[in-house]
Amino acid sequence: MPRSSRAPKSPWTVARQTCTDCGRARSMAKNYDRSDLLEMVCAEVDRHASWIQEISERIMRNPEPGFREWRTAEYVAQQFAAIGLSYRTGLARTGVKARLRGNGDGPTVAILGELDSLIVPGHPFADPETNAAHACGHHAQIASMLGAGRALQAVIQHLDGDVVLFAVPAEECIEIGWRRQLIDDGEIEFLTGKSELIRLGEFDDIDMAMLTHTESGGNALGSVGDTHNGAVIKYVTFTGKSAHAGARPWMGINALKTAMHALTAIDAQSETLPDDWRVRIHSVMTRGGDVLTAVPAEATAEIMIRGATFEALTRGCELVDRCLRGAATSFGARIEVETMGAFMPLTQEDRLTEIVARGIREVVGAEAMGAPRHRTGSTDLGDLSLVMPVSHPRCAGAQGSSHGSDYVVDDHGLAAVLPAKWMARSVVELLADGAGEAHDVIRASGQRLSRDEYVNRRRTFQHVQNYGDLSES
Ligand SMILES: [Zn+2]
Ligand SMILES: [Zn+2]
Repeated sequence: MPRSSRAPKSPWTVARQTCTDCGRARSMAKNYDRSDLLEMVCAEVDRHASWIQEISERIMRNPEPGFREWRTAEYVAQQFAAIGLSYRTGLARTGVKARLRGNGDGPTVAILGELDSLIVPGHPFADPETNAAHACGHHAQIASMLGAGRALQAVIQHLDGDVVLFAVPAEECIEIGWRRQLIDDGEIEFLTGKSELIRLGEFDDIDMAMLTHTESGGNALGSVGDTHNGAVIKYVTFTGKSAHAGARPWMGINALKTAMHALTAIDAQSETLPDDWRVRIHSVMTRGGDVLTAVPAEATAEIMIRGATFEALTRGCELVDRCLRGAATSFGARIEVETMGAFMPLTQEDRLTEIVARGIREVVGAEAMGAPRHRTGSTDLGDLSLVMPVSHPRCAGAQGSSHGSDYVVDDHGLAAVLPAKWMARSVVELLADGAGEAHDVIRASGQRLSRDEYVNRRRTFQHVQNYGDLSES
């Protein structure tokens, strides 16, 4: 984010010169060099390892889906209070944010953790009432964010910039119907947490951000530098005409078959887009009629179009719209298509990736590092990557298939403690010695979108289109 847009430092930041354990003022006598500070944060993470693991495990067992992570947010606030940090709550409904004040007016580095779970029936730690389940490992992110923050408290007075610890809501783009209601009620404008927080200006006082995500499979204990697909959602309502399905089917217009025809046409053409666009189009039927004996008069479907670039997303959307328009014509049905941006494609900043990779290598060893790659899944850290440099390392510690009922973090040390260590190290590298590395990252990342430019770009994906007209049939 351009320096000129940086907000003044807020009064809710906290004093920094008191030891969180003994309560005494820290000695300022020694001049620590960078390697001292790196050693200190690693030792602090080790000292608080069981606290970090307890946080990860506790949130795993108390999952809540996005934009309603009320208890999780309260728990994070309690942890901030316990380590002597003041904080703000209720950001994009549930976000919680604290700041560690360093020396001078250097750049601000944010460490993020996502509050939300998925909804996965059958998951071993699913909430029995809501089926909410941490099948993407976000609980470990909150723990590693808090762990890194607690370690950085020990050295913050020797860093030439600030650190923001930010628990952010609603990374998973789920419960679209409910979130549309939130949008209609004016509670949110965008479907995911970071996009909302950008719109609300909650990243205006941050210069770069990092977040470590768990993954399963393979032998790597850490990696960084992946790119990710972006995604657009279409919420589609197919309207036909009811009639007796046995006696007078010719009097009806079948909304279910209109939907089936459209989805089949989309499937049949998905291979016509170039491979390197990495387009994925997937859908769920959320309604397919009401009673067996009547021609279905209404069907609804949600379609997600993913792609590696804006062009890929745009061309994927054109393909889907063409198939929907064609189905409306074929059946004489009416189709309403509400399009919404879900995630923007993620690109990590190269200079920041180098620094974080160094941290990971120091913590896990070069032989345990994985190679970065393109991922066809999506994250709203992609949205943030449009407005500032971001880093999205991956850690181990989980088993099973991500988003599946068997995805469980079974090693909170790998999933939360090691990432806390490499994120704390990375922050030290960025902000020590006049924050030269952080300034380099900002310079290397060049001009990003302003908040307004981001919001406008995101809004270009939002529109409603109608195809077909029942009166013509
Ligand atoms: Zn996920
Ligand atoms: Zn995730």
